[in-house]
Amino acid sequence: MYTYCLECGWQASTATFETDTAVSKSAIEHFVETGHTVESVRLPPPAVVLESSSNN
Ligand SMILES: [Zn+2]
Repeated sequence: MYTYCLECGWQASTATFETDTAVSKSAIEHFVETGHTVESVRLPPPAVVLESSSNN
């Protein structure tokens, strides 16, 4: 998981945090502290990118 702020340079990902939960928690804390809009993205697998797999 990768999260980033739309209003400043803040970002967090599983490269810096151990789990998706920690990334999400950090993003929520940034939102609470600053009121900024934080966007979260699920990184696709590096080898396979299938556009047909959209399940929301
Ligand atoms: Zn921000």
